[in-house]
Amino acid sequence: MAVETHTAADAADAAARRDLAVRAAVEQGLVGGAPDAEPLVCLLDVAGIRASAAELTAAFAAALPPGTPVLHAFAVKAAPLVPVLRLLAEAGLGCEVASPGELALARAAGVAPERMVLDSPAKTSRELREALALGIAVNADNRQELERIDALAGAGPPASPIGIRVNPQTGAGTIDALSTATATSKFGVPLRDGGARAWLVRACAERPWITRLHTHSGSQGVPLALIAEGVRELHALAEEINAAAGRRQIDTLDIGGGLPVNFASDERTPGYARYVAELRAAAPALFDGSYGLVTEFGRSLLAKHGLVLARVEYTKSTGGRPIALTHAGVQLATRTVYAPAAWPLRILPYDAGGAPKPGAPAVPVVAQDIAGPACFAGDLLATARELPQLSPGDLIGVPDTGAYFFTAHYGYNSLPRPAVYGFRVGPRGEVRFGLARPAQSLAEIVAEAGGAHATAFL
Ligand SMILES: *Cc1c(COP(=O)(O)O)cnc(C)c1O
Repeated sequence: MAVETHTAADAADAAARRDLAVRAAVEQGLVGGAPDAEPLVCLLDVAGIRASAAELTAAFAAALPPGTPVLHAFAVKAAPLVPVLRLLAEAGLGCEVASPGELALARAAGVAPERMVLDSPAKTSRELREALALGIAVNADNRQELERIDALAGAGPPASPIGIRVNPQTGAGTIDALSTATATSKFGVPLRDGGARAWLVRACAERPWITRLHTHSGSQGVPLALIAEGVRELHALAEEINAAAGRRQIDTLDIGGGLPVNFASDERTPGYARYVAELRAAAPALFDGSYGLVTEFGRSLLAKHGLVLARVEYTKSTGGRPIALTHAGVQLATRTVYAPAAWPLRILPYDAGGAPKPGAPAVPVVAQDIAGPACFAGDLLATARELPQLSPGDLIGVPDTGAYFFTAHYGYNSLPRPAVYGFRVGPRGEVRFGLARPAQSLAEIVAEAGGAHATAFL
């Protein structure tokens, strides 16, 4: 598609930056092939994150009349790291938060309350009270939550923009666990259930301070056309509510995130311009400037810019299958390990010095398992993957892991959260690293496991 011709060149640039960063990470001692070196580190490509944020902003700006209010709120759960939120804030993005922890991270990054949206499906009264006191926009998930907001608001209208989350019930994608718009999804008010639409119109008529509607109908595995259909339903509902109210009560549509990511190559497809084109085709009026827009992208902003670098500790052959035992496993690729068909990851081989490892004829290419360090048989990042035969001290790179992978640590076997560095490549190829999150120390692991309470059960 014409809007995506830039992606091949971008992909080559990103791959070149990545190879420079891998070599520099070894040279600067962040990770290494030697037995006493660090076995594992995670990297984020700062230029790549900036480019994705700029691409998102430009794609919507190009489609909307000048002056239309737009807030691109990054879904914090995709990469809950304060330096990431700060970088995105500098690029003009806000934050979508869904827990007290995520809200605290956004505040620590200096994100202003009016640049945040609170979305969780199980907000406590205390969370709601705090969000309203700060003026953070809240999307109510259900009737009971709306009644809590009524009670908290008391006599006057709430100080925060209030929306209602709607489930358009447009159907599932290829990954059930990530499909938010099924007939029975746990999220939002089900639009097609009997009486629900009439209730929504009435609920808004009774509460003139409800000014937003929200849907988040996409995710990995959901086709763009299906996501766009959900947004079209949202727009139609807003028109119906406004017609019933006789005024433009709903002034903002929060269309969620959910743009899928290409895990098969370095190309960033589908791009935001393609998604905007898809939305325009489904709901042209969405872009006529009569509604402000909020978006909540997560995976599509960060996934392509993250890399895990892990040492191959040992290699063996079992039942004729070569196996590389590495330090990258379930603790940082939880979804891939438990649902490998839905979450395939590429594996990039590097030698101990951080140079891309050549294939045949220099090194034979064989089908091998890439195993992690955890003590259960299924801890595999790849099965029978054709790669140059790995040796102890080699490194594997696991790209596309910037969202929902190493930032969503799983504490199995008390494996520590690895360090995360951002990297920037200078004009002469020099690489500078900035620490985003230190590795979890053994003392921290012990403390978080009740180290100060050893005698509590005696
Ligand atoms: C997870 C989530 C997002 C982000 O989804 P991505 O697929 O990462 O873009 C946005 N909004 C809500 C409400 C979410 O739960």
